[in-house]
Amino acid sequence: MAPVTRAPMQANTIELDGQLVPLEVQINGRARNISVRVDERTGGVELVLPRFVAKAEGLAFVREKTHWILRQLRELPPHVPFEDGAVIPYLGDDHLIAHRPEERGAVWLEPATRTINVAGEAPHVARRVTDWLKKQARIEISERAHATAAALDKRIHKIQIRDTRSRWGSCSEEAKLSFSWRLMLAPKDVLTYVVAHEVAHLVELNHSNRFWRLVDRLCPNNEPAKYWLKRHGASLHRFG
Ligand SMILES: [Zn+2]
Repeated sequence: MAPVTRAPMQANTIELDGQLVPLEVQINGRARNISVRVDERTGGVELVLPRFVAKAEGLAFVREKTHWILRQLRELPPHVPFEDGAVIPYLGDDHLIAHRPEERGAVWLEPATRTINVAGEAPHVARRVTDWLKKQARIEISERAHATAAALDKRIHKIQIRDTRSRWGSCSEEAKLSFSWRLMLAPKDVLTYVVAHEVAHLVELNHSNRFWRLVDRLCPNNEPAKYWLKRHGASLHRFG
């Protein structure tokens, strides 16, 4: 969401108590302390280093936290592949994925039973569900984004739907907005908030007080959505 430039991530692994754990090291000029967190998406650890701290010092810090890290990793919710019988939170409500090999067509939603039906052969189910979610994301997001932009008398140049790693949405100077299709697995209010946030960047390409006042005007009472993203956002990466 933030138009913030970050140093590129270095992917790696670290051995903790004989267990090989994925490790990402990030150098952050604004960080004041070394910090470490467990990343639900990778099932690994993210280490953030202030600019002038040596990597070795950071790794020592990670090792000190071995027990805490391994416990957190054990407690992570499981990965949910898109397959027959899986339950996924489509627009925040649990929906069952049902493979219908005998049916023709692609993917269709049965709202009454909260079922996402998938035709075709089993090896294609995951891809078809992903493609369908991307298509739904384009529909839901475009509708909200264009309506919100129109209210501000602004034009959106282009909307892209992607699988972004660390941002749920972004807005460029050229009025190109992009969003993660995974927002389709978040509650509707969260989707609405992220769209309002990015559309507000068409007016204020920053995170100034003026920007946040505009977001509040476009999407009142957005605190729960912001909190949800902070608390649960990473968990959206465990699907698919
Ligand atoms: Zn932003």
